[in-house]
Parts: sequence; structure tokens; C-alpha cells
Amino acid sequence: MKKNLLGLTREELEQFVVSLGQKPFRSRQIMKWIYAKGASDFDVMTDISVPLRDKLKEVACIGGIDTLERISSPDGSVKYAFRLSDGNIIESVLIFDAPRVTVCLSSQVGCPLGCLFCATGRAGFVRNLTSAEIVDQIIQIKKDIPEKRITNLVFMGMGEPLLNYDNLTRALQVITSDFGLSIGARHINVSTVGIPDRMRALADDGFRVKLAISLNATTNGTRSHLMPINEKYSIEKLLSAASYFAHRSKRWVTFEYVLIKGMNDSIEDASRLAGLIEDIPSKVNLIPYNPIEGIDLCPPSLGVVERFQRILLDNHITATIRFSKGTAISAACGQLSGRLKKRN
Ligand code: SF4
Repeated sequence: MKKNLLGLTREELEQFVVSLGQKPFRSRQIMKWIYAKGASDFDVMTDISVPLRDKLKEVACIGGIDTLERISSPDGSVKYAFRLSDGNIIESVLIFDAPRVTVCLSSQVGCPLGCLFCATGRAGFVRNLTSAEIVDQIIQIKKDIPEKRITNLVFMGMGEPLLNYDNLTRALQVITSDFGLSIGARHINVSTVGIPDRMRALADDGFRVKLAISLNATTNGTRSHLMPINEKYSIEKLLSAASYFAHRSKRWVTFEYVLIKGMNDSIEDASRLAGLIEDIPSKVNLIPYNPIEGIDLCPPSLGVVERFQRILLDNHITATIRFSKGTAISAACGQLSGRLKKRN
């Protein structure tokens, strides 16, 4: 089987070229072609000798995901469906929010965690994405916007990134490397339901990315109902790991709180939330629930959302309201791939 060079860290690529009898610096040349110039075959690599290019064609390849569909939303965001080499489909979203150009990435095919409010969770889990498949989402989208630079990344697409830790961190090394995509760690947001040991590992391993934690409830009963993973990792365990990450990485964490009518949007919830996180360097993103076909949940009224925010602000918690972009294009993760699977 050919070695996919996409998604290899600089050290891994160096080892590979050395195993072909080449000098280590060849890896930097190859990375420049792949990430700065978007090369997807070896013939264009004109500063590499023809015999080495021929050897690379024999033993290696670059990339391997295909764009299946692009759907544009009136707000400018574009939803992508990519077909992987084994036929599975994943989704990414390109979001224009000047001056930022953000790509929302998937980390798994499906997701094993089954959150009540999520289309991906309903479809079940298939497999982890490789680091190549994670990085290739960015490269494919980059080709569509040659005049723009992708400034930010969020791991908020399909899957739980911290359950795919090795491939996530390998991809992060490529993404942040000067020889890779050169996107700074502080412009990358990893969204997690909260896997405590992996949150600690991310800080200990020196990844200075931002962490967004899907909290979504203030009691273990409600959170377990919405997010079954809470049975394993309670709110207390989650907040302890969040505090560790914030202090160790010297980065504020963001608590994502999807507001669902009659479920987690009461005055008591808002006060409890303020108390739970008051000692953690953090802010809160309030996200009115984005209705999904077949899921019997509703967003609260704007008045209730603003009341919730006011209580947090009055308790000295930084809180913003965020509306999902791309509602018209099934932007909630898992909706487009679900539709494509039904169609194909
Ligand atoms: S919200 Fe995230 S963690 Fe929960 S089921 Fe969906 S993809 Fe998985």
C-alpha cells in the first residue's frame, strides 16, 4: 500500500524520505509543495530529481478525499460533503465572518456519543478519520478560495475530536507547522464534550489551541439526558479538567451552552451555571438550539436567551449569544451527510 504523505508530521516525513535513501531536507521541499502550493502529484515538484519523483510515485501518494457536494447558504457559508476513499461521507463548513475565514472540520465518520440534539450522534459511529483526511478537508476547501487565506479552524464538525487524539494531534502539528499550513494554534478551536484525561493530555503535550467544551446543562440529570457521556464523565470531573487545561495552557476555555426550550434555559440554570464556572478562566457561548428534522426539541424565545445571558453577565461571567450560521444548508453537523447517504 502506498504511503499517504498528507498528514505526516515533519519528523515522520523526514523518516520516510531518509528510508528512501534521501537527505532529510527533501521532506521540507515536499511539504512546501503539498501545503504552500497545493500539489497533489509528484510530477509538479520540479526541484526534486526525476528519479526521486518516479520513486515517490511508486511508493507514496498525496491526499485522497473527493468533493461530492458544495452547498452555499445566503449568509455566505458553504457546506462541503467529501467522499473518503472507502466511500464514507464527511462534512466540513467554510464560514466567512470578516476578517476571519473559518473552516469547521470533522474528526470522525459519525460519532459514538449519541447526544440527543445532534444529527451525527443519531447516525452512529463508523471510524476515526486519519490525520490525512483531517488535513485534506482544509486543502480541498483552500483550492476553492485561492484569493483568500483560511485564518481559523474549528473542530466542531462530525465526531468527538478528543476520541481521535493521535490523529487529531498529528494533524495539529501539520496545520500549525511553518512547513505545513502555518495556521497558529491560537486560531484553532477544538470542541469537545469533555474527555477529561485527553483535555489534560492536550495541555500537557503543549498544544496551545483553544478548547470549547459542550456543557449544555447545569445538573448531572439533565446533562446525562442530553449527553449520555455524562454518565461516565460527570459535570464535576469535566469542570476539574477544564480548570486544569485553562491554568496549564494559560488559555481561557469556552463553555458552549445550547439553549433548549424547557430543558436547560431556566433562571435557576443560569444562576447555577454562573456558580459552577466562576473560578475557571472562561467565557460562555449561548447557542439557541438549531432545529433538526426528526428531533423533538425547540429553541427558547429570544427573550429567554437574553434573560439567560443577563444573569450570567450580572454574575461577572463573560457570555455571548451565537446563532448558528448556515441554517439554510443543514449546517448542524451530520445533516448533509445523512441526506446524501439516503440519496446515494
Ligand atoms: S454533538 Fe458532537 S459529540 Fe455529541 S453526538 Fe454530535 S458530534 Fe458527537
